[in-house]
Amino acid sequence: MTDSNSAFHRAVDAQARRMVELARVLHPEFEQDCITDPDMIAKHWHDDVRIRFVDSLVDSWLRDDAYVFYENDGENRSSLNDLLGLFSPAFDKRHVHRIQVQYGKKERREERKRINGDRIRYPMRRYFTILHELGHYLQQTDDDLAETLMSISSTNYNKRLEEGACNRFASLSLLPDAYMRKHCRMLHEFTAKNVADFFKSDQSRGVHRVCRVSRQAVTRRFADFLPEGGYTALVRMAEDGNDARLVFRAHADGGAEYGTPCTFDERRLLETAGRVPTSRRTEEGTMTLSARQTGKGGIRWHIIVWRPY
Ligand SMILES: [Zn+2]
Repeated sequence: MTDSNSAFHRAVDAQARRMVELARVLHPEFEQDCITDPDMIAKHWHDDVRIRFVDSLVDSWLRDDAYVFYENDGENRSSLNDLLGLFSPAFDKRHVHRIQVQYGKKERREERKRINGDRIRYPMRRYFTILHELGHYLQQTDDDLAETLMSISSTNYNKRLEEGACNRFASLSLLPDAYMRKHCRMLHEFTAKNVADFFKSDQSRGVHRVCRVSRQAVTRRFADFLPEGGYTALVRMAEDGNDARLVFRAHADGGAEYGTPCTFDERRLLETAGRVPTSRRTEEGTMTLSARQTGKGGIRWHIIVWRPY
């Protein structure tokens, strides 16, 4: 990661943390809503911004100056258009700010369950999209946050900062620092196993937590707690177990790389991949590998953590 990249990610992080603070001031229940049931946000923020779930975003609200959010976690490229969000700012008092979140097939199925009174579990993506769009709302309507964006001369940089801050805001809201500390005692010296365990326990924390946070989001978030130069990585194994594909590396400074080839050390470590966690020490640090986890579709996942000395 280059210095300018680090500076960019620091600016994104600073903006996002101010957004989290503002959200908590505006709505003291915001923090709890994010942890237990982010669907409550639509209700609690009703007077600020209308959040609506729609089958299609293409309707009369869709304007050239609106913000469209395409989320793709890198796991499944065909799902790029499954769920989109849209923030449409109100330009005068006669209109209201609106957020639209498009349903994916899965949400529609779950919605039918909700109508029937069954317990429902929406995928992480839905909540991430709601919060990402709420991030646009905050940055577009709060004078101080808007000023940060305006004070930068390049429009392209502004846009990148705003988008980056929306994603970071969603991540910090769904996995707040306090929540991470509470549910991972090893946070100051965690290994790949701790990340995998956190993900697994978060999935089953359903009684108090409706929201399911994805393996991708958890792996990325843990990188924040590594020393400089460290990273977490998510690896997807082919069915025969021989072909490892690195989905992303998330660096401690906030940067991420997608789909890059494995390094020599990663390849050596992945040769030991199996049912138990393994590790590999080098002169510069320790690399740990989680035990195999089988996800939906029988996909086998591993997490790598690189912790420099
Ligand atoms: Zn966006």
